[in-house]
Amino acid sequence: MRWSLTLGSFKGTAVRIHVTFLLLLAWIGFSAYRSGGPIAARDSVLFITLIFTCVVLHEFGHILTARRFGIVSKEITLLPIGGVASLDHMPENPYEELLIALAGPAVNIVIAAALFLAIGAIEPGALAQLDDPHVNLFTRLAAANVFLALFNMIPAFPMDGGRVLRAVLAMRLSRQRATRIAALIGQGFAFVLGFLGLFGNPLLVFIAIFVYMAAAGEAQMTAASEATRGLKVEDAMETRIAAIDWGADIGAAVETLLATAQEEFPVVGANKRFMGLLSRADIIEALQTQDRRAPVAPFVRKEAPTIEAGASLDKSLDKLAFAPAVGVVDGAGALLGLVTRQGVAEVILIASSRPDWSFGKG
Ligand SMILES: [Zn+2]
Repeated sequence: MRWSLTLGSFKGTAVRIHVTFLLLLAWIGFSAYRSGGPIAARDSVLFITLIFTCVVLHEFGHILTARRFGIVSKEITLLPIGGVASLDHMPENPYEELLIALAGPAVNIVIAAALFLAIGAIEPGALAQLDDPHVNLFTRLAAANVFLALFNMIPAFPMDGGRVLRAVLAMRLSRQRATRIAALIGQGFAFVLGFLGLFGNPLLVFIAIFVYMAAAGEAQMTAASEATRGLKVEDAMETRIAAIDWGADIGAAVETLLATAQEEFPVVGANKRFMGLLSRADIIEALQTQDRRAPVAPFVRKEAPTIEAGASLDKSLDKLAFAPAVGVVDGAGALLGLVTRQGVAEVILIASSRPDWSFGKG
C-alpha cells in the first residue's frame, strides 16, 4: 500500500504503518492535550499504541496459522480502521479457513485473559487504589481486547466471523453456495447495523456500508475464482494484439494506437522479449510532452507483471488486481499474448453460460 512506512519485520512479514494512522495518533494526542494537558496526551497516545499492538498480534494470529498451511503473507499494514494482512490467497479447505479465521480473535481472548489475571493478582492488596493509572490502563486494555474479539466475530465479511460462518457452511455445502449464504447473512447484519446507526452512532452507518460492500465483493470474487477453476492463462489470453517495438519513436506508437482499439500495448525487444506495457494514456502523454521523433522507451512501464501461459488463470486474477493487463510470456521471456480484465470477464461469461465449454480446443 502506498504512503506506508515499514516499522520492521517478523518471520518474513513486514509490519507497515500507513501515514493516515500516524495522523490519527497525532490528532488523538493533540485533542487530549487540549482538554487534559501533556499527561492526558501521553496516556491517550500510549493507550491507542497498545491497542494497535494488540491488533498487530491479532493479525499475526492469522498469519502464523496460515503459514502452517503453506500460505505466506508478506506484510501487515496498520490503518486507522485496523490492521490489514495481505494473505497470498485464502485456503480452499474449510477446516483450514476456519482455523485461520479463529486464530485472530483467539489472540485477543488470550491477551484479555492474561491481563485480567494480572489485574486479579494486583487487586487484593490494591483494591483501594482503583484510580491507579496502571491498573486502570490494564483494565481498559483488557476490555478493548474483549471488544476486538467480539467485533471481529460479527458473522459478516470482511470480519473474521464472516469467514468462520462461510467455513462452517462450506463443510456441508459447496464453497460457492456457502459464500453466497454467508454474504447474504452479512448483508442482513449490515442493514441492522445501519438501521441502529440511524438512531444513534453515525459511525455505525459508515461501518454498515463498508460491511455491505465487502460482502458483495467477496461473493463476486468467489464466483469469479469458481468460474475460472481449472482454466489456464492461455485460455483467456488475447493473441490478436498489436505490440510496439522497444526502439520505436512516439510517432510509430501513435500509428499503432490509431490502428487498433486496444487499451494496453505490450512493448517487445529483440526476439519478442517482453519489456513492459504502454497504455493509451501513456502514449498520449508522450505525444504531449515530447517530439514525435523522440523514443517512446522512457514512457514504458517496465514494472508490468508477467505470467507463464501454462499457469492457472486465478494466479493472473491476483496480478490483475494491481495492473490493467498482464504480459503472458514463454520460458525465455518472449511475449505470447496479454491477459486483461476484459478478457477474463469474457471467459467467466462463457464458462458460466456453458459450463461444459472446452477452451482452447477450437
Ligand atoms: Zn482478524
